[in-house]
Amino acid sequence: MTTLTRETLARLDATDPLRGFRDEFELRDGLLYLDGNSLGALPRATAARLEETVRDEWGSGLIDSWLNAGWKDAPMRIGDKIAPLIGAAEGEVVAADSTSVNIFKALGAALQINGGRRVVLSERGNFPTDLYMIQGLRVLRPDVEARLVAPEDLLDHIDTSVAVLLLTQVHYKTGRIRDLAEVTRHAHEQGVLVVWDLSHSTGSIEVDLNGAGADFAAGCGYKFLNGGPGAPAYLFVAHRHQPRAQPVLAGWFGHRDPFGFDDVYAPAADVRRYLCGTPPVLGLVGLECGVDMFARVNMAEVRKKSMQLGRAFVRLMREHCHDLGFELASPEDDAQRGGHVSYRHEHGYAIMQALKARSLIGDFRDPDIMRFGMTPLYLRYQDIYDAVAIIREVMVSRAWDRPEYRVRAAVT
Ligand SMILES: *Cc1c(COP(=O)(O)O)cnc(C)c1O
Repeated sequence: MTTLTRETLARLDATDPLRGFRDEFELRDGLLYLDGNSLGALPRATAARLEETVRDEWGSGLIDSWLNAGWKDAPMRIGDKIAPLIGAAEGEVVAADSTSVNIFKALGAALQINGGRRVVLSERGNFPTDLYMIQGLRVLRPDVEARLVAPEDLLDHIDTSVAVLLLTQVHYKTGRIRDLAEVTRHAHEQGVLVVWDLSHSTGSIEVDLNGAGADFAAGCGYKFLNGGPGAPAYLFVAHRHQPRAQPVLAGWFGHRDPFGFDDVYAPAADVRRYLCGTPPVLGLVGLECGVDMFARVNMAEVRKKSMQLGRAFVRLMREHCHDLGFELASPEDDAQRGGHVSYRHEHGYAIMQALKARSLIGDFRDPDIMRFGMTPLYLRYQDIYDAVAIIREVMVSRAWDRPEYRVRAAVT
């Protein structure tokens, strides 16, 4: 097999249909940002748009901006813009709260709809907040049973005792993709509802919730959607389920008439009932800037480039770093791998710090996982070549082997 050269990758960049998007991001020269799966880069449009919101809409418009600047309807408007990225219809998605909170809302609704059952099923090693939300729910509903099973046995545990399955489509450590349609079909055969966590899916892989007949989904705004640190998340509730449950977090913005100020809660008829408190306008404006960019891209192109970037990374790691202690933790098959490539390495944490000192940014997940995010809107194919060259240099020179690189930071 011939080796993969930087020139070959440069040729891919020259014909890349997405190449124009990189200039729409604030990324300093020489930076290799392979962590967009954790915090997406800053779109250039965002700072100006936020400034306008702060100065004009808030500063001048003050309270009238709730209506005049579209603040009040932002959760639904942005939800409708996220919808096409996940195969949802208009009126099925709201942008609100965090992924954690939205998962709680969805679990609460699913347990009501499937009221005769009381088991919440998930897999061990799922993203911690998903598991913690189940544990928190059990404080209020001690009758609910949390059933956590090994990932490889999950399908065998989907039976008629289960009310709801909570599952992440793209695993945060390995990047492995669950077959959303197949799992949903299997669950529905047993009368089980499914809550999908799409945090590592949306803006990275193609998702078709309604094609799969999905029930509920939630996910992050600050990863592949580039919504900004702590950007609001989103919640999908299939139209057919919207009137079927009373929100467990019944807030005034989910009331059918928030400004009627009634003592008694009456939920909005539509997806608005899943709103809770006052929308965080500044966060939503940042999210909208990130999401708006996706209206101009074809997700099939994004996915195709993401797979090619990942494939080039895996191949170059094999060619240049095969004897340096790295073990591929992600599926080798592009079709089964989402938007990041992970390697295990016993010195993973220290190596990642040394890479960061050389402007190659990835991240680390305990105990030994190094993650490298593939974000097609702002990564070039050549960047992958340069990243692997830096990894090799850090390993061969043992530059990672310094005491300061072993000190764990509070955020990894
Ligand atoms: C990043 C991530 C979250 C984050 O949840 P927040 O409540 O937004 O902090 C949840 N689930 C998964 C799978 C994630 O990757």
